Formats: sequence, C-alpha cells, structure tokens
Amino acid sequence: MPRPIFARIHLDSIRENIAFVRRAAASSRVWAVIKANAYGHGIGRIHPALGEADGIALLDLDEAVRVRELGWTKPVLLLEGIFDARDVEVADRHRLTVTVHCYEQLDLLDASTPRQPVDIQLKMNSGMNRLGFRPDAFTRAWQRASGMASAGKIGKIGLMSHFANADDGGIDWQIDEFDAATRDLPGTRSLANSAAVLWHPRAHRDWVRPGTILYGASPTGSARHIAGLPLRAAMTLSSRIIGVQSLAPGETIGYGRTFTADRAMRIGVVACGYADGYPRHAPAGTPVVVDGVRTRLVGRVSMDMLTVDLTPCPAAGIGSSVQLWGDQVRVDEVAEPAGTIGYELMCALARRVPVEVDAPVAAHPRAEA
Ligand SMILES: *Cc1c(COP(=O)(O)O)cnc(C)c1O
Repeated sequence: MPRPIFARIHLDSIRENIAFVRRAAASSRVWAVIKANAYGHGIGRIHPALGEADGIALLDLDEAVRVRELGWTKPVLLLEGIFDARDVEVADRHRLTVTVHCYEQLDLLDASTPRQPVDIQLKMNSGMNRLGFRPDAFTRAWQRASGMASAGKIGKIGLMSHFANADDGGIDWQIDEFDAATRDLPGTRSLANSAAVLWHPRAHRDWVRPGTILYGASPTGSARHIAGLPLRAAMTLSSRIIGVQSLAPGETIGYGRTFTADRAMRIGVVACGYADGYPRHAPAGTPVVVDGVRTRLVGRVSMDMLTVDLTPCPAAGIGSSVQLWGDQVRVDEVAEPAGTIGYELMCALARRVPVEVDAPVAAHPRAEA
C-alpha cells in the first residue's frame, strides 16, 4: 500500500470561485491565471473547471500549447510575453496573446512574419518596478506597437499593469499613474490581480486577472482577510496517523527536541513531511484537523512525518484521517505562521504526493496531471 498521503483537487470549488469573481467584478471579463501549473493544482486537472473564464493567463509557452491541445479556444495570455524568435512562431500558430513589456519584445515581433497579427497586452510599469514601460515612455512604446499593427504584425493592443501592494491598500497612486499615461490611448485595460478584484473596484476595468482566489487562497497570505467570503479551497492535502506515542511530562518530540510535553500527552505521527510540500518552518500550534477535529502541530516537521497533539481528539489513533490543508484548514493558516503564503505551499506540493480529482473529467479524456 502506498503511503496514505494524497491531495484532492475540487473542480466545483474552482467553478464557484470563478463565479464569485464574476459577481465581484461584474462588468469585467476574467483572465483566469493558471501559471505555475495552475498554482500547483495541475493545468490538465483543473482545465475542465475553467469554462466560465473568458481567457486564461500563464507564463510558460509549453503550458500555453498544452491548454490549446486540451481544446481551449478562448484567449490565452502569456504574462511575461516572448523570449526569442521561435516563441513568436508558437504564439502565432496557437493564437496566443503576448504581453509586451520592453522594446526587445517589440523587436522580436517586428522581425517576425506572423501568419496573422499577434494580439498584445502592452505592459506599463506603474510603480511595481518589475516588468513594463515606465509611464513617461508608454506612449512612445504604444506608437511603435501601433505602427507594427498597421504593418500587420500586431493585432489588438490591450493596456495592462500590475500592482505592488493591492493586498494592503495603497494602489490608487499606481492607478493614477496608469490613467494619466494612458488617457489618450485606445484599447482594453487590465490591472486587477486577486487582491484588487476583492478590495479595489476602481481597478476592475475591462479585464481582471485573478489567480490565487480561484484556488481559495488569500491574496494577503492571511486567512482572516478572506474570512466570510465564499472562496472555497480547490486543494485538500490529507493523510493519516501512522503512529501514536504517549508522552510523560518533560519528554520531548522529534528532531531538535523543540517541543516538551508539560503534561501527559498523546501524540499522533502523520505521514506528511517537508518532502511532501508541508513547510518545514511550520511552528508548534499550526492548525491540523484529525478526524474532523481541529488540533495543532507539535515538534519539528521532518522529511516524511510530522507530529500532532491528540488531546482534543482522544478517540484518534492509527489510521485516523488528517487534513493538513483544505476545506477545514485554509492553506493560509498553515503558510502564515511558517512565514510564507498559501501560493507557495500550493505551488510546492511535491511530485511524490498522489493527486485525485473530485469531479469527473470524462469530457476531456486527454486531461491528466
Ligand atoms: C500572478 C499574476 C496575477 C495573479 O495574481 P494573484 O495575486 O494570484 O491574483 C495577475 N497578473 C500578473 C501579471 C501576474 O503575474
């Protein structure tokens, strides 16, 4: 028998989360962001749940081709655009929309002879200082792109930008920069990531670009910020108890002896460790659900196992079910005390963890991992 750990992907949760985004940004179209293999959920697995999105956005050319092969006919946006001349051919062949954030990318498109004009999203660096043309250089970049559109190399030109801290409030300055620099330019606008979808209606515009909330995780990394919102976990990581120890007061658990029992305690040993993707830095007290009862991690997470306090669930023993994260423990509740964000945990689910999909995918027989 394999180790009892497994992840389950809930397609209905993704569908409901997309429906929620539609209600939250009712006049916008939705790019469903599925970069990083759909934030670790598996593009092939979740693809059947994306039907209500208007487009999908990702970074990797192979992933983009894959979604076309899976039968996706609506727009596909490459969030970092193209890296060399060969990418232009692929973008052309598969009708990909490409982000253009620098002149080098315009040069690549200019040097190509696409069979049909390539749609682009011209990206402004409105203050994030990662990718994009600065506001004072944006109109010139747009004019160059517009000239290439006249030459049949570029199709539609959309305008986009990305926020540095949509999760903690201050984004009006970036919106102001964007609006001032694009005032006289035509084209659709796209600004909002998950945080801006939830908390900054002013940023919604023509297309929103939610990622993490489609998977039920918090854009701030903190579960309390999405408490009460109908965002459902798209991934549940489960395992079982494979060992039980009874500790006397003063005894310690695991590597480094970081936890000392202050009373007699039963400890459950769970088949899940950092080699499965559980964060090694999760401290004692991180929530875990055993047989449906919330309890806590105690002791250091090791490669293949972790240990939990069975005090609140005295009937639990070997074979008891354990939820590490999912519908009963938000992934953010595990990530935050470990000093990271749910995004990272979802993306870092280890290959060795078997993954099941909740809903039938019969309509897409080629869909897998
Ligand atoms: C990742 C990404 C998003 C989605 O961000 P979330 O915080 O997951 O919603 C949107 N736009 C761009 C350009 C991105 O890189």
